[in-house]
Amino acid sequence: MAETNFKAEAESLREELLARRRDLHMYPELGFEEHRTAGIVAEELRKLGLEVQTGVAKTGVVGILEGDTDGPTVLLRADMDALPIQEENDLPYRSTIPGRMHACGHDAHVTIALGVAKVMAQHRSKLAGRIKFVFQPGEEGLGGALAMIDAGVLEDPAPSVTLGLHVWAGLPVGTVGVADGAIMSGSSIFKLTIQGKGGHAAMPYTTIDPVACAGQLINALHMIVGRKMDAMAGAVVLSVTSVRTSSEAYNIIPQQVEIRGTFRTFNAFTSEMLEQHIRSVSLSVCAAGGCEVDIFVKHLTIPTVNDPEVAKRMRKAISSVVAVECQDDTYRTMASEDVSYMMDDIPGMYFLVGAGNKAKGITYGHHHPRFQIDEDVLPLGVALLSSAAADYVLKE
Ligand SMILES: [Zn+2]
Ligand SMILES: [Zn+2]
Repeated sequence: MAETNFKAEAESLREELLARRRDLHMYPELGFEEHRTAGIVAEELRKLGLEVQTGVAKTGVVGILEGDTDGPTVLLRADMDALPIQEENDLPYRSTIPGRMHACGHDAHVTIALGVAKVMAQHRSKLAGRIKFVFQPGEEGLGGALAMIDAGVLEDPAPSVTLGLHVWAGLPVGTVGVADGAIMSGSSIFKLTIQGKGGHAAMPYTTIDPVACAGQLINALHMIVGRKMDAMAGAVVLSVTSVRTSSEAYNIIPQQVEIRGTFRTFNAFTSEMLEQHIRSVSLSVCAAGGCEVDIFVKHLTIPTVNDPEVAKRMRKAISSVVAVECQDDTYRTMASEDVSYMMDDIPGMYFLVGAGNKAKGITYGHHHPRFQIDEDVLPLGVALLSSAAADYVLKE
């Protein structure tokens, strides 16, 4: 394997990778609507001679690159969906779809995974085992990974390892996040519907004001992390992100206020504690205000956990692509990823591949209307994932 120069092979695809990513960037599709993207993926995989299955969990695509001899199955996962954001970048390849944007970099993930398929297809005769390319729909809070698992992507053949990457604005291009253990948080959402008794804004004493109650509750919710959670229990964040009332008038106290938000933790116990606090704080604050509250909590993802053994092996495997000095083995983020569910079943490694570049003004974060990536991350990502997969299936 040492003989194979994945860096050079990936670099030879640079123009093709840039063109592919820019095309995908121009036509972003939301989760479970990735019809054009899935079509492109399936066509390319078939062209490379992979066995392709489409319509997996609606718009997902699975391609299997089968080696000449038997061996382990590597699951390589890429997500395909864009976000409901209006792009504000002034680029020749900016999004052509109003209100839709690849603001998380999943266009790069599709491009990189297709690049890996091309590189590894060229080594097919030396493959012992297979690579199962999983192109997943609906990662952005829509449950795409679980839908793919339900559709059977972890079976027949069952993978021995899960590999994947996220291009990462928070790291400079050329740096790769390769930490052990939980590297991305588990994410949950909550919706608190406060029920009061509406009425005339001039006579609040005749009402039970859910707006006043919501104000108290938002403060109380934001107090939970700092005042009720053990600081040693791992990183925790809680954010209220939306407040809506049932009336928009200036002179009406509404019947109802709905508060939405998210919380993130690095382990199930902390998540459970936080949920209990949200419930008890909501009930007591609303009771004090004379309101009723309906509490809805949903756990969207569990933390993304890199298996220490796999991570150790992978750091070694990629050291021909990224020097050890550029491998950041401590970087973690409060962002979340539903690849966590695949990695919960099949141990694996999820790389965070630096895509920021201050010198080029590429500084906006994920989910921002001016999010961008340094496209050098495309060949780098291909080299990285090719070497990682090769470590399991390429014999030389
Ligand atoms: Zn995202
Ligand atoms: Zn993402």
